[in-house]
Amino acid sequence: KIMAKAPTSPATIFALASGGGRAGVAVIRVSGPLAGAALAGMMGKGGKSSDTLPRRAVYTPLYDPEGGDGLDDGLVIWFPGPASFTGEDVAEFHVHGGPAVIAGVLEALSRMEGLRLAEPGEFTRRAFENGKMDLTAAEGLADLIEAETAAQRKQALRQLEGELGRVYEAWRERLLSALSHSEAAIDFSDEDLPDTIVAAAAAEIASLEQEIVAHLTDKRRGERLRDGCLIAIIGPPNAGKSSLLNCLARRDAAIVSEVAGTTRDVIEVHLDLGGYPVTVADTAGLRDGGDAIEVEGIRRARRKAEDSDLRLAVFDGVAWPDADPSTLGLVDVDTLVVINKCDLAKPTPPLEVAGQPALAVSALTGDGIDTLLAAAAERVGAMMDVGGSPALTRTRHREALEECRDALARYLGGPG
Ligand code: GDP
Repeated sequence: KIMAKAPTSPATIFALASGGGRAGVAVIRVSGPLAGAALAGMMGKGGKSSDTLPRRAVYTPLYDPEGGDGLDDGLVIWFPGPASFTGEDVAEFHVHGGPAVIAGVLEALSRMEGLRLAEPGEFTRRAFENGKMDLTAAEGLADLIEAETAAQRKQALRQLEGELGRVYEAWRERLLSALSHSEAAIDFSDEDLPDTIVAAAAAEIASLEQEIVAHLTDKRRGERLRDGCLIAIIGPPNAGKSSLLNCLARRDAAIVSEVAGTTRDVIEVHLDLGGYPVTVADTAGLRDGGDAIEVEGIRRARRKAEDSDLRLAVFDGVAWPDADPSTLGLVDVDTLVVINKCDLAKPTPPLEVAGQPALAVSALTGDGIDTLLAAAAERVGAMMDVGGSPALTRTRHREALEECRDALARYLGGPG
């Protein structure tokens, strides 16, 4: 006997939408077919749930539907689907953000038939599944929540608003149209199709391929901005690398000592550099010899320097210019050269090391640090600048686009 499968309606889910811990206000969100019932239940028997108008805040006492205990006075907002974040019926409770209030409301909701606690990301997942946002927008939302600097926020917001998704959607539509024209030419080869149809499709594919290649050749600016970029502080022992890092971080993050070779590992601090997220890594002094631990530290320092987006090469203003050749070898166009200890020895212009202009600073007095920060922010900003067209921000985007580019190249290469 064949049983007709009953259409399963999605579970109604709820969760604390605001952060944990005590706060003035906490927001608890409910989404699903029973959201309206949950709202009415919490507003109490004979309560004013009839007062709730769509998308209007109502100030109301809230009760435990079981037993009728008062839980809090708060605001409720009713978002009937599909005009809601998830596309389903949604109710929001804005309650006082104390642990007992939050626990009381969550508990009362969990006791209601058909309601369960949401899994992480489940509200956004429903929004995605109900066509409220595409995947790039959902990723933009996640990035916006994670954003720590102004430039990251800007990029995430643009992605959430669909900028990147629109670029990809337009490409998809052009691809589909080129595909249907090619298929028409194959399926109806005997019929009266204009012979230009295949050539036109090929021209469209060629221009699409070029646009995708240009989009991919972006020096990873979107990904760099999302993940933050890495600045490595390199230089000979005792040049003042740790002191400079502390000075930049304005806190004691690295060990400063007068014994050469004490920074044996890589120490990192995260900074907001003029709105751009950077990690600054202090590395072991690059010099030959030393004990096994120091040698390992130097190996890591070199690796970090190679992985970094920008290097700050620090030289001791007293010892300079007989600077260590092993450090000089690392000075290139992606290096900001810093001559430290200018409180002890004021270097005479022109300041130049290995062909690169240098900045004089004192990590001790803070002299020249603002200029250095501004110069670093400018370099980093240029690397991450997302002013113009929307940039891809994740490896997922890059891999999908590379696959697409390769497929288009195969098509353009003809059968073979
Ligand atoms: P690192 O080995 O390159 O990390 O160097 P440190 O940061 O440990 O500094 C080595 C020594 O130089 C320490 O005694 C610091 O106090 C001193 N030092 C660092 N920066 C300055 C500076 O700008 N001026 C002066 N006078 N001393 C400094």
